Amino acid sequence: MAVTLEKDGSIAVVTVDSPPVNALSRDLRQELIDAAEAADADPDIEAVVLMGAGRAFIAGADVSEFDRLPEPPHLPDVVARIETAKKPWIAAIHGAALGGGMEVALGCRFRIAAPGTRLGFPEVALGVVPGAGGTVRTPRLVGFDKAVALVTGGKPVGEEEAKAIGLIDAIAEGDLRQAALSFARAALGKPMPSPLAARDVAAPHEGFWVEAETRLAKRGEGAARLRALACLKRAAEADFAAAMAHERATFLELRASDEAAALRHVFFAERAASRPPELKGIEPRPIRSAGVVGGGTMGAGIALALRRTGLPVVLLERDEAAAARGLDNFRDLVGGMVKRALVSEPEADELLAGLSVTTEIRALGDADLVIEAVFEEIGVKRDVFARLDGVCRPDAILATNTSYLDPRRIVAGLGDPERYVGLHFFSPAHVMKLLEIVPLPETAPEVLATAFALAARLGKVPVKAGICEGFIGNRILKRYRAAAEDLLRQGAAIADIDAAMRGFGFRMGPFEAQDMGGLDIAYLQREGARAAGEPVLETLADILVRVGRKGRKTGAGWYDYAESAAAPTPSSEVGELLAAHVGGGPSLSGEAIAARLVSEMAEEGAAILAEGIAVAAKDIDLVEIHGYGFPRWRGGPMFHASRRGAKRFADDLGRPPSPALAAFLSAG
Ligand code: NAD
Repeated sequence: MAVTLEKDGSIAVVTVDSPPVNALSRDLRQELIDAAEAADADPDIEAVVLMGAGRAFIAGADVSEFDRLPEPPHLPDVVARIETAKKPWIAAIHGAALGGGMEVALGCRFRIAAPGTRLGFPEVALGVVPGAGGTVRTPRLVGFDKAVALVTGGKPVGEEEAKAIGLIDAIAEGDLRQAALSFARAALGKPMPSPLAARDVAAPHEGFWVEAETRLAKRGEGAARLRALACLKRAAEADFAAAMAHERATFLELRASDEAAALRHVFFAERAASRPPELKGIEPRPIRSAGVVGGGTMGAGIALALRRTGLPVVLLERDEAAAARGLDNFRDLVGGMVKRALVSEPEADELLAGLSVTTEIRALGDADLVIEAVFEEIGVKRDVFARLDGVCRPDAILATNTSYLDPRRIVAGLGDPERYVGLHFFSPAHVMKLLEIVPLPETAPEVLATAFALAARLGKVPVKAGICEGFIGNRILKRYRAAAEDLLRQGAAIADIDAAMRGFGFRMGPFEAQDMGGLDIAYLQREGARAAGEPVLETLADILVRVGRKGRKTGAGWYDYAESAAAPTPSSEVGELLAAHVGGGPSLSGEAIAARLVSEMAEEGAAILAEGIAVAAKDIDLVEIHGYGFPRWRGGPMFHASRRGAKRFADDLGRPPSPALAAFLSAG
């Protein structure tokens, strides 16, 4: 039995005990109804305290049931049964009351929570809306303003905020069970509040719904948030039963939607990413201190990411002037976080205090882990690693943040090849969630395990990548940009291509994004390859860089910028520069443009998969979502491709899929 009932005087304590997080499985739902029947039938019971055993009250729906049809008893009936019980129920919450767990708590007459509890409705993050009264009871408890924030925002709140907005009645100090029992006894002596289903709710102010809808539409994160808003609106306009019916119908419809399937796919991919099966049972090495070499864009960001986990960090630069710049870079990043209220002033001081900047490589002698982020030049990197090899402890892990270079070449000839690994961060490194982990053939399993443990500690999504130019993400980026240039050559307008990708759900199109990051970085990389005698095709971007159009920072790139913060304006100079290269092909709709470009990403992804550079298609999806702005609610390029299938794919691409992609599509 997952649900037990025991009596403490006239109060029943109903405990849900279904590890790990008391998810609302079918059995558990039935047992909750049984407990309500039993408590109602027992004349000695005056009130019921509902608690969760273990880590949480009730963390939410059972994710293992996501892909099956819902089975009775359905959650709305469970909540209604608790709400209409003859005795008042008190939810005594710890850990988490999320989604369905929060809805069960709303069926109770009172809610008290222990410190450290998270409460809320993350449903929209999985492409659905609450399905058991969350959108109907919440506004009756906290009003529409707060309910809209909670339900459409999807972000849980802590107990303090929950108390402040009226989502819970009290915060339990000390033992939760005792606090709940005392609360129940005190409540019995007072007039009972009516159940939420029976309460009226004040309508929001004029214009409220339009404002909320505009705000959400601007976020552009798929349909679920807007549909949740529509449910809340129905709760304002219709009676309780009609609003409940509307919410349930929306929930069931969205549950079967592409968007929900995509978000579930990403959810499971993320969960799997942090624990690769081949590392099971392998102990990571402890990391107590870290070093970073290079205090530029990436080094400063990596140092900050490490500092935020509390690790002391030594930052090595090549000379005093560069060291001063490195410290400034770090300070600027911390200052930016203070400005955005992400850290307090004292926390900022603490972050700075734990960083020491040096030009002495010996200062890295004690570090457990050193991450190199110097110029993307093989000679410079080889020199750094040779010197690190000389001063670092033999058990220290040495990592490179290279974007394109072969890590094997960087460390060739050095001692103990087992301790090297690629750790490819994304800019800004203290913000971006993706971490590509690139093992060398000799990398020790425990070094790899340590890299994954580090990713978890940093709050990153780790993806293992094999060695090839650009690893997973930058290799797909290159294909994506080339495909965008192809469309341009065929006559599509720069602004139309960017708009199409925004329409698909990216924050920026490929050309805007290049202008933001700077066109010169990839250009220099191509020039380097050309100088080394590699065959590198001339790109349209090369033409722009050669006349000094390097992006926003030069006021000109694919677009013109009156100033760096100004909106991009189509450029007549670019039109002239590229006139000889672009043709007058048939005009394409935004959808056709997006379909083509996303198909090209999937094409490259399929090649990456076939070559074993990525372990699984879902890893490629994670790379694109967490490193390159692919809309999460579309599930990533591989998921998207598998949903579209081979036939539509051929239409999107304008040619049959490659053998690698065809194999992937038929396997899916
Ligand atoms: P950057 O030019 O901003 O910084 C490089 C820093 O390394 C400079 O501060 C320089 O003084 C320092 N440096 C150079 N030689 C050194 C030496 N011998 N010892 C100590 N310090 C030295 O470059 P960045 O953009 O931070 O890139 C660094 C690395 O990260 C490159 O390998 C790059 O490919 C990779 N990377 C960059 C990005 C990005 O978006 N910028 C993203 C991922 C990875």
